[in-house]
Amino acid sequence: MQEDALQARAGDAVISLDNVHKTYDLGEVQVHALRGVSLEIRRGEFVAIMGASGSGKSTLMNILGCLDRPTKGHYVLDGTDVSELSKAELAHIRNRKIGFVFQQFNLLSRTTALENVELPTLYAGISQEERAERAKKSLERVGLAERAMHHPSQLSGGQQQRVAIARALVNHPSILLADEPTGNLDSRTSVEIMDILQRLNEDEGLTVVLVTHEPDIAHFAQRALEFRDGKVRRDYRIEKRQIARLVLPTMKSPDDDDAEDAKPSQSD
Ligand code: ADP
Ligand code: MG
Repeated sequence: MQEDALQARAGDAVISLDNVHKTYDLGEVQVHALRGVSLEIRRGEFVAIMGASGSGKSTLMNILGCLDRPTKGHYVLDGTDVSELSKAELAHIRNRKIGFVFQQFNLLSRTTALENVELPTLYAGISQEERAERAKKSLERVGLAERAMHHPSQLSGGQQQRVAIARALVNHPSILLADEPTGNLDSRTSVEIMDILQRLNEDEGLTVVLVTHEPDIAHFAQRALEFRDGKVRRDYRIEKRQIARLVLPTMKSPDDDDAEDAKPSQSD
């Protein structure tokens, strides 16, 4: 590739990894979780990370999310080389630029949805009033404003995951990292979550990186990166990308049991 073209690509890359290695040192054994990963993700992309268990997906996400540093190689996030930053500097960048969503929703059970979403704003040095306001707006973005005062136990799994997404969005990150966010959800609820992620990506230009081992879920992304043994084995564009908003009406909803005989809306 020409020098100019390389520069142009680097220009709009929000994530750029160059020969990243991660080795866990367990004393007698060393686990080579990542073995030379180079990749670029552009601003506004929606990327699925796939691969068998143990292939290095979560290790990659921890590095992308500034929770951990590469053992070797470089990670440039939004123009800053973060590979060599201190833990405190990493935490600062993480808080400003990254939103995380996990398979376990990781909500505090004794507090309301609103308070859960407010939590990451504690460090932003703003008034309680503004914190609540931001959290409310964030809940609106995932369609849960009317559940603000509910506790997690009063919410369905899908609603809890939406609260977790709202919490991830509250500091207006430029990147949303989701590690198996639909792993604990039924298929319809999973597509509802993909609908929210697609809307945030399309409407707000949020960069989304999603780990999933379900090919059906990866079909909602634009691009897939397949990992094996700590390396990228395939990097490809998703053909026939699914649009959750269009798929949802074709899926049976849990309270549709009476409509068992209704005509299926898709013929294939
Ligand atoms: P995946 O998310 O694809 O299942 P991981 O990134 O969790 O894969 O793990 C990749 C490899 O690194 C595995 O062999 C795993 O056992 C190992 N590993 C992950 N985290 C740690 C850790 N904190 N300490 C030691 N080994 C780890
Ligand atoms: Mg994992």
